[in-house]
Amino acid sequence: AARTDAARTLGGPPAAAALLDAATRLAATLPVTPSIAFIRVGDDPASESYVRGKAKKAAELGLHSAVYALPDNTTQADLHALIGTLNADHGVHGVHGVLLQLPLPAHLNADAALACIDPRKDVDGLHPVSAGLLWQGQPGLRPCTPAGVMALLDHYRIPVAGQHAVIVGRSALVGRPLAGLLLNVDATVTVAHRATPDLGDVTRRADLLIVAAGQAHLITPDMVRPGATVIDVGINRVPTDTGKARLTGDVHPDVAAVAGALTPVPGGVGPMTVAQLMMNTVQAAQNQTVHGHADQSNGASGELLR
Ligand code: ADP
Repeated sequence: AARTDAARTLGGPPAAAALLDAATRLAATLPVTPSIAFIRVGDDPASESYVRGKAKKAAELGLHSAVYALPDNTTQADLHALIGTLNADHGVHGVHGVLLQLPLPAHLNADAALACIDPRKDVDGLHPVSAGLLWQGQPGLRPCTPAGVMALLDHYRIPVAGQHAVIVGRSALVGRPLAGLLLNVDATVTVAHRATPDLGDVTRRADLLIVAAGQAHLITPDMVRPGATVIDVGINRVPTDTGKARLTGDVHPDVAAVAGALTPVPGGVGPMTVAQLMMNTVQAAQNQTVHGHADQSNGASGELLR
């Protein structure tokens, strides 16, 4: 039987274009060209393609970027030394953002490496200082995917203040920082995870349901309150009959019949992540170069960073 989709589609590309436009306009006000350094280690094809995509977007916006592709046998000390060099690269043609592409090869400690990045250059927002500032409700650089989700909600004028937001997933990359971002704009926040006994019982209470669990089709229509806004952060590769992988989200497509609004996968949150990285890079450059921002250890320019 034909399904009648109730849900409004919250497409990523228009929201990402608006965010990129804002980043471009802010960059035009700066005395320098924002510059980002990408570090990746080993030959993971997904990491290679992510870094290529981010560097391409930076070039499109007229930002400077450089890619440091380190061999698989890179030591922790080598990695820290490169980060130290980039941290110290101030100057007119200096580096404003340092992004360490994850995951790293198993012999390297990602948390230790992330902690070496100068927090002012932490454009991925994963340094413990950035996480602490976010959690304290202070300005700082925010992780790109959750900040991209907030920008998407903002673009589509989805109300957040006073709403009950339920997040599924508690990763350092998405779920946890999202909880902080939503709290900072007055949502009532619940975080569910692998050990939540009855997930549907929790998700059905959500006005705003955000799913970042990395489980294809974890959320089925019965788990969603009619009219709720559903944001699908999952990007899962599932095999098809033809043997080619297909991308699908953490939310079952039939949820479109129940939800009030829903992000598609692909083409939803995905494009927001890279756009937010560009905005973070421009803001980091602003904080490091514009008078009145230079002494802030955390890097924020008020309303743009929530
Ligand atoms: P991501 O980086 O996309 O946030 P991770 O794989 O790092 O994803 O984390 C997955 C998160 O999703 C974890 O916090 C985990 O507890 C949660 N999760 C995974 N499976 C389920 C499930 N079946 N029910 C609820 N939460 C889940």
